[in-house]
Amino acid sequence: MTYATLDGPRAIGWREKPLPTPGRGEVLVKIRAALTCGTDLKTYRRGHPKLQFGPFGHEASGDVIATGEGVTAFSPGDPVMWVQTAPCGACDACRADNENLCEKLFDEIALGAYGTHLLLPAKVVRHNLYRKPEHLTYMEAAFLEPLACVVHGWSVLRRANAREPLPPNVAIIGAGTIGLLHLLNAVQAGVHATVIARGADRLDLAMRLGADEVLDAANVEDDPAARESSAARFAAVIECGGTAESWNTAVRLVAPGGRVLLFGGLPAGERVALDAGRIHYDELTLLGTFHFSPNDVREARDLLAGGAANVKPLVSGIEPLRALPNVFERLDKRDGFKYALVPEPALVGWI
Ligand SMILES: [Zn+2]
Ligand SMILES: [Zn+2]
Repeated sequence: MTYATLDGPRAIGWREKPLPTPGRGEVLVKIRAALTCGTDLKTYRRGHPKLQFGPFGHEASGDVIATGEGVTAFSPGDPVMWVQTAPCGACDACRADNENLCEKLFDEIALGAYGTHLLLPAKVVRHNLYRKPEHLTYMEAAFLEPLACVVHGWSVLRRANAREPLPPNVAIIGAGTIGLLHLLNAVQAGVHATVIARGADRLDLAMRLGADEVLDAANVEDDPAARESSAARFAAVIECGGTAESWNTAVRLVAPGGRVLLFGGLPAGERVALDAGRIHYDELTLLGTFHFSPNDVREARDLLAGGAANVKPLVSGIEPLRALPNVFERLDKRDGFKYALVPEPALVGWI
């Protein structure tokens, strides 16, 4: 098998090794499609606080080619989709029903999706491996992980208001893959959605995906009239920009009594100054959100399988696996948002 490794910032290498034999509870899959992810790009640029350099890539789907002892739910030949982590089920966080915060979340993680094959750990097989429905392409199925993160964010948002779990309207800041997945979620939940982003092409795409309104982020920030008219009018704001500035914009746009979901993470140690008067006197709820639990993965699977999440337009391009270094150079220059990598060049196209 061949797989890519990230050996340091901006250093992608290739490794070869014999196909492993799955141990107890493990499953060996042949990768059919993998997707690039904002987290991978961050790691490529500067490393990741919770992940070490090594096998690269985590969003993928494929076919089972061998199963370990004790695996009864899957057999060779099954098309499957999965996410890279699973909770331990035994730590304090897991016992408190916060499986997304499991202390062992990043032990035994299925990294190396940019490769020909991947060995899935037993806990991933047990909790977060699903059979891919026939009608779903491998590329669509590989959206399971980012969609699970988005579904978890909406679960945090709903739980924060017992009286009205779903907000009547939402502003989404950012129209990268994650912002647009939030949009798809809002549309299928029947929540009126405004997308605020830079770039006419991204705003057009947001309209095509069902946004009720799009606003150019530059206007919202710099034009005094637009600034005034957009301020404090959204029952919920989902921040996907991942900058101190967009965290501030989120706080400025939310209506009194509203919720802000801070989805875009900032570098470790970064401090953000927010409008304390608004938070206190307008009784705002600021919410953190991280990763996903098995329930979120199941809900994301159902959304994909039911056709509620039209993810195809979110793929910027489809490339053979060997083009990976070039794809990351392009992402680094903000050329495209999400690429699909296909190990078999003959199959480049929608699969
Ligand atoms: Zn991801
Ligand atoms: Zn745990």
